[in-house]
Amino acid sequence: MSESNRLRIAIQKSGRLSEESMKLLRSCGVKFNINEQRLIAHSDNLPIDLLRVRDDDIPGLVMDSVVDLGIIGENVLEEEQIERERLDKPSRCIKLRGLDFGTCRLSLAVPNEFSYENAQSLEGLRIATSYPNLLRRYMKKKGITYTDCMLKGSVEVAPRAGLADGICDLVSTGATLEANGLYETEVIYRSSACIIQSTQTQTPEKQALIDKILSRINGVVRAKE
Ligand code: ATP
Ligand code: ZN
Repeated sequence: MSESNRLRIAIQKSGRLSEESMKLLRSCGVKFNINEQRLIAHSDNLPIDLLRVRDDDIPGLVMDSVVDLGIIGENVLEEEQIERERLDKPSRCIKLRGLDFGTCRLSLAVPNEFSYENAQSLEGLRIATSYPNLLRRYMKKKGITYTDCMLKGSVEVAPRAGLADGICDLVSTGATLEANGLYETEVIYRSSACIIQSTQTQTPEKQALIDKILSRINGVVRAKE
């Protein structure tokens, strides 16, 4: 395979999915060394390049076929898919399979002193989130009007800072909510990591390599079950 024909896989540079993504690829026999300063890591034994980027950039990179594969949270994938639908832009990617890490839920949460009965209790409120599309879809389904407060980080401090009445954020144990005087009221989306592939033309060599990696992933995940 020539240099330009190397398979490109996007993984999160640093965050909750990084270690597990690298571990998964290594357990599939992909050998590589990471240089923290570098965006790209070349595999030593296979024609594969790893692109280490922010997780939010991964679905777009795959959908625009800048890379062939991506390992990403379903929450971020779904958010991008709704965004592209809204903008009438094609989202050219398929989910190859779910993975057994990065499990979390996107939940609504309100301050402890808030008396919450049901989702309607949020009517007319301002809600801080990094996932405006997933929130909008849920609120539309429930027929609730609300105002967005779009924050890329520090969502959980928004109510205390007087920026919002409630939040819609990712939760795993609930410890962060508790530490910020919030409680979870509704789960709006359940997520785990997944591996996605661009639907744009692959060379037969690349597709064969993708098939090989996928079958190894299937083996690795099955062995852990
Ligand atoms: P980046 O700098 O890459 O944008 P980030 O801060 O957006 O990183 P992380 O907090 O590392 O992202 O989370 C990455 C993904 O890990 C989430 O989108 C989600 O799929 C998953 N995840 C699992 N548990 C949690 C959790 N408790 N809180 C946030 N994300 C979680
Ligand atoms: Zn992110």
